[in-house]
Amino acid sequence: KSVIHLEEIRKSYYLGKNELPVLKGVTLDIFKNEYVALMGPSGSGKSTLMNILGCLDTPTSGSYILSGHDVSKMEDNDLARVRGKEIGFVFQQFNLMPRLTALENVAIPLIYAGIGKKERLEKAMAMLEKVKLENRADHKPNELSGGQCQRVAIARALVNDPSLILADEPTGNLDTKTSIEIMDIFGAIHASGNTVVLVTHEEDIADHARRIIRLRDGVIESDRINQKYVVTN
Ligand code: ADP
Ligand code: ADP
Repeated sequence: KSVIHLEEIRKSYYLGKNELPVLKGVTLDIFKNEYVALMGPSGSGKSTLMNILGCLDTPTSGSYILSGHDVSKMEDNDLARVRGKEIGFVFQQFNLMPRLTALENVAIPLIYAGIGKKERLEKAMAMLEKVKLENRADHKPNELSGGQCQRVAIARALVNDPSLILADEPTGNLDTKTSIEIMDIFGAIHASGNTVVLVTHEEDIADHARRIIRLRDGVIESDRINQKYVVTN
């Protein structure tokens, strides 16, 4: 079953009347429970593609079916609703709310889902347990290490049970040892049935994924099963 179905996706930015074509016809399927690393040189269109996959932006042309919904021509309001329900984001900079505790940060997506406070905090705690951070639930981001902050962000991404986890350079701000711990968590998330797409420019990080897609100049240059796949458990 396709979580992501892209057909001839094109995306241009317009600077005055100058067109800058960035994605030049991307066709791609990503199936449920795949684990994909998206690679490619700076400027190849990775962030642009991730923004489209994450329903933060729409393509100039082409179609995008996300979990059965055609999101390529949606208006912003509908797009935001689909994004909140279907996508969990993990960013390089963690993007946590500094005044909220770890537990409260994890519960944020559930506010938008309209879930009551007691149930929110219970679900958020269960997610913190998944990333082994239940003993830091009452700490604020500035009382947590970078790796711990990223675990909070991962728990927040998972709390709504989204159909797709998108991670943009999730280890970009972390040292090697912490990066491996975070990649082990992504491995466990994948093993428990989630669909994961992550952007990285580090081959060692990409080797945790099962499938590696390389973009170059706005097109897919290669798309293959990763023979060096690092088994995590
Ligand atoms: P990558 O993530 O692979 O580095 P991007 O998708 O960020 O690639 O960028 C691809 C190209 O699109 C670059 O030339 C970049 O300058 C341009 N670009 C990205 N976002 C915008 C924007 N909002 N407006 C204009 N140009 C943009
Ligand atoms: P880059 O990959 O170029 O370093 P970021 O990872 O900071 O950029 O952001 C990627 C995209 O996600 C940007 O278009 C940004 O507007 C968007 N974004 C950043 N933070 C959030 C957030 N908390 N919720 C939704 N979208 C976000």
